[in-house]
Amino acid sequence: MSADRNGTGYSVFTDTMADMTYPEVAEAAERGAVVLWALGVIEQHGPHLPLATDVYVPMAVLRQAKALLAERGIESIIAPPFYWGINAVSSSFPGSIKVRAPVMIELIKDVFASLGGDGFRRIFCLSGHGDAQHNRTIYDGIVAGCGPETIEGHFVLAPVMRDRLELDPADPRLVTYGKASSGTPGNLDIHAGESETSVLLHECMEACRCELIPGLRPTNLGMEDLKVWRQGGKQALKVTPMGYFGDPAAATAEKGREFLRQNAASVADAIERTLRAPA
Ligand SMILES: [Zn+2]
Repeated sequence: MSADRNGTGYSVFTDTMADMTYPEVAEAAERGAVVLWALGVIEQHGPHLPLATDVYVPMAVLRQAKALLAERGIESIIAPPFYWGINAVSSSFPGSIKVRAPVMIELIKDVFASLGGDGFRRIFCLSGHGDAQHNRTIYDGIVAGCGPETIEGHFVLAPVMRDRLELDPADPRLVTYGKASSGTPGNLDIHAGESETSVLLHECMEACRCELIPGLRPTNLGMEDLKVWRQGGKQALKVTPMGYFGDPAAATAEKGREFLRQNAASVADAIERTLRAPA
């Protein structure tokens, strides 16, 4: 992650409105800037990655997407990331903080109302966490939080997540993008595996336990294992006793750079398409 202004290390607030002043925020709203919002979670990510991995990854994507949108004449600001989410799958591991869906929905509504009150008209939400209940709740929060008096919310998600949540492809709140993937059918890359580890190595290596990564064996798990894992709790602990699902040792910073580049470009394209679509 890029260094903060003092050069003292990475900050999850870098490039977000949290590092702006209120007149700067007011001017951005006045100019019609859109808001980008990452919704992650604090969750175990194996013995080698920090609990905030699902916050760091979407934040890195949004920072690059913001720069790409700016090149195309679309101004955006990034809201501080959402940390507290739903952890059904990793609930048996320490450090995975679980909040209830109604709490999350109320919080999303209040953030939408605040930003809408500040004059922002559109917000694009990107999830960093694959748990279906977490993503379902983001969608429910967007539906509850949208309105002519507040802000128009969109959920930027991969078609595979939209289909898992059984959401209507024609729903105008949904903005789909082509998420880069890795792994193979016999060695799925689901959680704290090759992609997430690569992004963290590229973005904030200082938060990784790099010395452990080469010794982590691939889980070699497939779709049937994934179904059991998704039941969460003790089932997930049984399928992935180490917490990761994939092949972290295959990760490199270079792959992380490429994964980010592809996802940011795809997210920026999807947002631009939505903004340019006739009303
Ligand atoms: Zn993750």
